[in-house]
Amino acid sequence: MPKPLTVPDLADEVTLARYPFLPQASGWITGMAVKHGIDLDELLEGSLMERSRIRARSRLVDTVDSKDGVEVASIGDIHTEEGRLLEAFSFYYARLVVGASEDERLISRWAQAEAERGQRILAVDLANLDIIANTYLSKIERRTDGVWKMGLADFIELSPKITGPRWRLANCDVEDGWVILHEERVYSSTEKLARLLRERLKNEIQIEALEKMASMDESLAIRLAEPVGMIRGLMADRSAEAVALVGAGEADWPPCMRKAIAELAQGVNVNHFGRVFLAAMARTIGFPPEATVDLFRGAPDFSEATTTYQVGHLYEREYTPSGCGKLKVNHNCAVQPGQDRLCDQPWMDHPLKYVRANQRRRMKEQQATNVSEEDKTGDA
Ligand code: SF4
Repeated sequence: MPKPLTVPDLADEVTLARYPFLPQASGWITGMAVKHGIDLDELLEGSLMERSRIRARSRLVDTVDSKDGVEVASIGDIHTEEGRLLEAFSFYYARLVVGASEDERLISRWAQAEAERGQRILAVDLANLDIIANTYLSKIERRTDGVWKMGLADFIELSPKITGPRWRLANCDVEDGWVILHEERVYSSTEKLARLLRERLKNEIQIEALEKMASMDESLAIRLAEPVGMIRGLMADRSAEAVALVGAGEADWPPCMRKAIAELAQGVNVNHFGRVFLAAMARTIGFPPEATVDLFRGAPDFSEATTTYQVGHLYEREYTPSGCGKLKVNHNCAVQPGQDRLCDQPWMDHPLKYVRANQRRRMKEQQATNVSEEDKTGDA
């Protein structure tokens, strides 16, 4: 892949916050973390980062829900330090979440959504387009008449991923190793460059998220179980691939979920909080709505119409399950200290973390089995 040998200097903090995926932004984000005392605990749970996590959530939801990629407008003003913190760390947090999902399809979709956002800003950001284009492309220049020309190698790599006759090399004007991105009435030269750049942005954003996934340690993956559950549940809703996508089998369920299911099956009344929790949990781990309704069939007051309506409402509003603290207060926790090894862990504060911890343990066991079987095959 043709790339520039050196990345141009870029120090403007507003630009770095606007394009937090830029390679020049990583040192700046690290500096901001040091300056404001932002460590992993603060990013994941601290009050300073709360708005960043909210913005990250909207970045992730746009990944699944929006046809136009991530919303361009931030919820803060990036001309202030607070707004820049929010924008930069929301990207960073969202990348951690998709990395923790260990779902390459989600990572690809997220990279696509962030790259689409980048394209839309770049198409109108003439002040920075040149430097950003030179960050990602080995040969790019703007002629004196304002028309961009791109090195042939860059164009050949990026254009096949775009549909439409204007992107086919045979239809382009090529001069001395340059492809001229002519102005068109409906497609300006700048818009063409932004569109081509989008392909490179997606690739780079995706590579970095995959690196995060590869280096994700178990405790961090578990701490991120709740936002991962939110986005995977949303994907399951949209794709109707449900249980298979999320992959949380019965063996992964936390005791509180099993308890609610068992009680309902035995005709025992489960309180309102427990019912909402169970339905939200089922939605988040990928049950289709009909399967969630089925969980309530044994309830003493079961009504097909009422339960279908309530479950439908909960799915539409994308409820996520409550944490352990609220479940304990509402008498829906199923264990006492010492009864369940995972529930006894100091980090256990959400049933989705329970699911995630079990999934990862199973995955590791499976990998170990595969390795030992390969060893046996090799010995044979
Ligand atoms: S500690 Fe949390 S995960 Fe475990 S049973 Fe209680 S509420 Fe569920």
